Formats: sequence, structure tokens, C-alpha cells
Amino acid sequence: MNYGEIKNCDIANGIGVRVTLFVSGCTNHCEYCFQPQTWDFAYGQPFTAETEESILEMLKPSHINGLTLLGGEPFEPANQRELLPFLRRVRERFPDKTVWAYSGFTLEELTAEGNYANCEATVPMLELVDVLVDGRFVEALKDISLQFRGSANQRLIDLVKTRESGEIVLWRDGRS
Ligand code: SF4
Repeated sequence: MNYGEIKNCDIANGIGVRVTLFVSGCTNHCEYCFQPQTWDFAYGQPFTAETEESILEMLKPSHINGLTLLGGEPFEPANQRELLPFLRRVRERFPDKTVWAYSGFTLEELTAEGNYANCEATVPMLELVDVLVDGRFVEALKDISLQFRGSANQRLIDLVKTRESGEIVLWRDGRS
């Protein structure tokens, strides 16, 4: 897996101050995507053991609320397989911090067996995520007033509450 960028002080992609990892590769190809250069799986630089250590260091300060996964597409199957062991390390090291993840795939697409985005790593990876921002960017539904998302079709799903209740619960500010 490659990544394009890491932000160590991001306030735009999830609640609080976060470390954000922009992984490379996306097959969704949304029209008017704001970063089409990240569609290329070879974009950026390799995600190495050193990269992991560097992110873990960035997560240490108490003012950092957690980690956000963005892309590109973190839920491309090839990326899921690399992110799953890393997320396990993040959870083990920082059990009190939150994990947000963005995906152009909807939760239903991610969890439907036989679907392109669903692989053996998907459910275990989703279990390590607190909030999933799902759905492709749709220019016709673009709304700059929306919190943490670009278009109105995209949902902020509280995966903690969703797991507890067994039905999709949307995230509300102040809960994760
Ligand atoms: S899912 Fe994200 S990175 Fe992929 S094409 Fe859509 S907006 Fe661009």
C-alpha cells in the first residue's frame, strides 16, 4: 500500500484534533473527485513499518483525539489488508482514542458478501472503527455546510452505536 499524505494536526476530518492518513488507490472514480491523483495505487510513497511508527508517535499527545483514514479509498480490498493489522496496533496502543474512516463504498456495499469491496478483512476492520463516513462524492448533492463530508448522500455512521443496536445509527456531535 502507498499513501499520499499524513496530517498530524487535522481538524477537518473528524471530531477534535486528529492524525489523518491519506492512502493511495481508489476505484470509485467519483465525478469531480477533489483528489483524482490518489486513484493511482502507486501514488505517493510506500506505507512501511517506519510510517506506522511515525503515526503511532503522532498519536501520543493527549490533545490528539484519534486517527482518521482517508484516501484514495481505505476500503479498497488491498488497502484493507494492510490497514487491518495497523489498526489493531493503534487500538492496542491507544484504546481511548477514536478511529474515523472515510469510504466511497456504502456500509451496505462493504458488508454485502460477494461484493467487490467485501473481503476477509472488512468486518474485522469495521469493528475497529468508531465512525464511518460512507458513500461516493456526488457533485449534485455537494453542500459546503455539511460537517465532515462533501455531499448530502454521504452518512456519518456511528459504528459503535450501530454495532450495539444492530441498525444504522448516525453519528451526532459529542458522541465519539
Ligand atoms: S471515493 Fe473519494 S478518492 Fe475515490 S473517487 Fe470518490 S471522492 Fe475521489
